[in-house]
Amino acid sequence: MSLDPRGALVLFSGGQDSTACLAWALERHTRVETLGIDYGQRHRIELDCRPRIREAIAQTFPAWAPRLGEDHRLDLGLLGQISDTALTSERAIELQAGGLPNTFVPGRNLLFLGFAAALAYRRGLSVLVGGMCETDYSGYPDCRDNTLKAMQVALSLGLDAPMTVETPLMWLSKAQTWAVTERLGGPALNDLIVEHTHSCYLGDRSQRHGWGYGCGACPACELRRQGWTDWTAGRAGGVAGVVGDAPPPKV
Ligand code: ZN
Repeated sequence: MSLDPRGALVLFSGGQDSTACLAWALERHTRVETLGIDYGQRHRIELDCRPRIREAIAQTFPAWAPRLGEDHRLDLGLLGQISDTALTSERAIELQAGGLPNTFVPGRNLLFLGFAAALAYRRGLSVLVGGMCETDYSGYPDCRDNTLKAMQVALSLGLDAPMTVETPLMWLSKAQTWAVTERLGGPALNDLIVEHTHSCYLGDRSQRHGWGYGCGACPACELRRQGWTDWTAGRAGGVAGVVGDAPPPKV
């Protein structure tokens, strides 16, 4: 089986980070498909944001439009059966003994990447792109760089095909993520992210803030608000050399 080295599958949830990853992938890869995973999350509203974000990106960035391929959606409702967490049930979000928030679905990213790799293989794509990040990872061990590198090796061996896991946000703060998206798509991309992406764990889109929609109080809103505040105050810091290597070829 030969996979297209310029073909990528982006784990695209409809949040700020995965939208940044989508833009990043569209700048670098000639064929980009997207995957949304429904695992019974309370903030399922983010899944509804996905088609609008894809449409808006294709309209706003004509150079990226021909690269944006199929969208896929997988139903992993069984995750809700094997995890009793605040992401999938009506419970308060709090820290548990051991320091992990109860939004933690054990091994979630490993499961997601396993399914994503199977799909990518079938579609002939050799790159998986995800927004995992150690900088503000809330202690999730499956977001760690070494975890994902080990997963890349396991997937490549298990599929007997090169499968690269790219995590462009791994070492970035939330403020630097806004800087990256501005570099990729200018203020138009950041406006699109503010307006159309969803982060709030409670699925609240009734309140509009400068940084987007959300309850304003849950940990996801707090993280997004703080990142936006730091970014707009000019505290993002340099991102050159962090997100990448040589500038990508112009599309
Ligand atoms: Zn919220």
